[in-house]
Amino acid sequence: MCNVSRREFLITSGACLSLAAEQKLLARPLPAGLAEAAKDDVVAPDVYFHEGQVSDTADAVCNNGWIMFEDYVLVIDANFPAGARLIIGQIRALTNKPIRFAFDTHHHGDHAYGNQVFVENGGVPVAHTGVVEEMKRYETGYYGHEPGRWEEATKERADLKTTKLKPPSVLFSKDLIFDDGKHRVELIHLGVAHTHGDAVAWLPNERILFTGDVCVNGPYNFVGDGDVGKWVATLEEAKKLGARVVCTGHGPRSTATVLDDQQAFFKALREQVGAVMTNLPPDQTKTKIESIRATLKSNAQIARYVSDRAAGSDDGFPAQVAKVYEELTGNKMTALFHEPHRARRAHARSHGLRSA
Ligand SMILES: [Zn+2]
Repeated sequence: MCNVSRREFLITSGACLSLAAEQKLLARPLPAGLAEAAKDDVVAPDVYFHEGQVSDTADAVCNNGWIMFEDYVLVIDANFPAGARLIIGQIRALTNKPIRFAFDTHHHGDHAYGNQVFVENGGVPVAHTGVVEEMKRYETGYYGHEPGRWEEATKERADLKTTKLKPPSVLFSKDLIFDDGKHRVELIHLGVAHTHGDAVAWLPNERILFTGDVCVNGPYNFVGDGDVGKWVATLEEAKKLGARVVCTGHGPRSTATVLDDQQAFFKALREQVGAVMTNLPPDQTKTKIESIRATLKSNAQIARYVSDRAAGSDDGFPAQVAKVYEELTGNKMTALFHEPHRARRAHARSHGLRSA
């Protein structure tokens, strides 16, 4: 019995076992490929989740998922090129089925810059139409204008130097369904959130939701390209799906409570900024950041979302406060961003975002 059929036999026999548990059950060592794949999380039969770790590669940190259909594999998020190669290796340890589709949950580098790697391995990048619209906004170099985010990120990421930006070429305006009778995956645009082009992958049979960065599990929220007010409403739509398992874009996988927690964080942030800051002119708001941070940190449900990063970090708490202040008042807290920002640059590098 080959590795794949042994594995599929174990999974379809009803037991949702981790590979480590399988190994114990069989009381013999796993073949090398499967032992490697044991780092991945079997969420349900043929459905995998890989939590991105900084140790995976120097810089590839986005979470991935993949679904093994009868005839092909659908991957959730293309990651950076280094991450794409890692995930392709993980999948190849499990099956020889073609990796036919790579679904970009949104346009950011850590979710979409690996597209070309998937193309070279026979895959097609798939995304909501908003992903291409966002790329036209930020990836200006690709579209024949001034250098954009890709060119900026290439200065600091070795894995971008040997590949190129490849926008998705299979696009959907609301949803796209993959269904072979056994597995069903619905790619759905639920509304504006982390960006203007986010989509999620919903598996109604198993009630598993892959959210991309519509939902994260920890202090990873970058709010610069989205709309926090609309994001709260989009999370409400995500909650209506009734997920049992939620695989977020960053951080450990969780249950439906993670959608509640992230939404509660944004609601509390909007309430606090509204109550404490919106009656102040922009140059006096900075003094209130730490008290708002302390208030949110004291709430156990949302404390893990409150970053300790200083002003200048793209996903730092001050940047989130500034975005909400701008959404509520129309004014920018520009004073936050006058200093050099080493933390911001470091984070921007890991997310493929512009460093200045
Ligand atoms: Zn993102």
